[in-house]
Amino acid sequence: MSKKHALLSPSSSKQWLKCPLSITLIKQFPPKEETSVFAAEGTSAHELGEMALLMGVDPNKYLGHKIGDFVVDEAMIEAVNIYVDYVVSLGGTYETEIKVKINDEVYGTCDTTVVCGNTLHVIDLKYGKGVEVFAENNTQAMIYALGALKKFDNTNITEVVCTIVQPRIFGDRIKTFNISAEDLINWGKQELETGCKKALDDSCLDFEIGEWCKFCKTKAHCQGMKDKTMEITRQDFASVINKKEIVLPNITTLSGTELGRIMEFADLVEGWFKAIKETATDKIHNGEPITGYKLVKGRNNRSWANKDKAEQIYSELLGKKAYETKFRSVAQIEKELKKSKEIIQDGLVNISCNPVMAKESDKRKAITSSAEIDFAEFIKK
Ligand code: SF4
Repeated sequence: MSKKHALLSPSSSKQWLKCPLSITLIKQFPPKEETSVFAAEGTSAHELGEMALLMGVDPNKYLGHKIGDFVVDEAMIEAVNIYVDYVVSLGGTYETEIKVKINDEVYGTCDTTVVCGNTLHVIDLKYGKGVEVFAENNTQAMIYALGALKKFDNTNITEVVCTIVQPRIFGDRIKTFNISAEDLINWGKQELETGCKKALDDSCLDFEIGEWCKFCKTKAHCQGMKDKTMEITRQDFASVINKKEIVLPNITTLSGTELGRIMEFADLVEGWFKAIKETATDKIHNGEPITGYKLVKGRNNRSWANKDKAEQIYSELLGKKAYETKFRSVAQIEKELKKSKEIIQDGLVNISCNPVMAKESDKRKAITSSAEIDFAEFIKK
């Protein structure tokens, strides 16, 4: 595999399968390679998971240790334990960090595969908690599964289970999608192959706007997104546009239909404005003037120049006061107790999280009011 990042990466497959034009735009306006603190954190969690699965190390022992660019904290240990426990619980032969390749443009690395009899499990650890990832028809996991089927060349595999382990979200942290090997191979030959051809064809101008646009790296250059933003603005803020001075409508007077329509595209429009800000920031950093804006010095963050040396000096000076200790999470205490065959007997309470708004298509059951959550315990009885 010559290039580090695939042009048609499995992680962005939903986007390029729905919108082949995005690949043409990416080729025309290559986005800059970006890493974020969240990505670094995710990479460290993946590394810890891999160490636990391959070398049998106990993730709990890594608390406070640096893996990659990130210091392992309790949240990471809890998340990795959920992932590792799930993989091990399947009881098959597992492999981690499997390089898979569908063709010269579609390739990637699958977190874990487990073969149990005639079933292939493909498990993807999602450390992020901002956006819930679903397993059903998840094209990233399906591409990994196809690649793994091809790599293993195991004709005994008849069933495939694509699993998303997303330990830090509310709701289902482990979701699975079952598909027969035959159906998966047919999907690869039909939808995936056609999608690849269209995405690589610069004359194909097909595009579709949807939730995948949120992560599209070329939305600042997308005419469709610009038109959609204008359309929404015209429809819902016509009174604003026709005035010289900007007066936004009173939000409390918008109807349910109007709010629903605006909500439908709020993420997209937000994403488009974010892309505008990023583009303007890049330009101003490169010395191009942006009317009304300038570069100023950012706020300084203090940090230890040499953490080990600082620890030596200040632990001598302050003793225990130089450190903080925290009581461990429910999952960590539970794991420790398990070793001595004990269980949590006391002190546990289930805290209901606040209801969140979800799309009508979301699989979770709708609740009619937050009171339903408050009284759920009593209703069950
Ligand atoms: S913003 Fe959406 S419609 Fe525009 S190129 Fe990207 S994925 Fe396609």
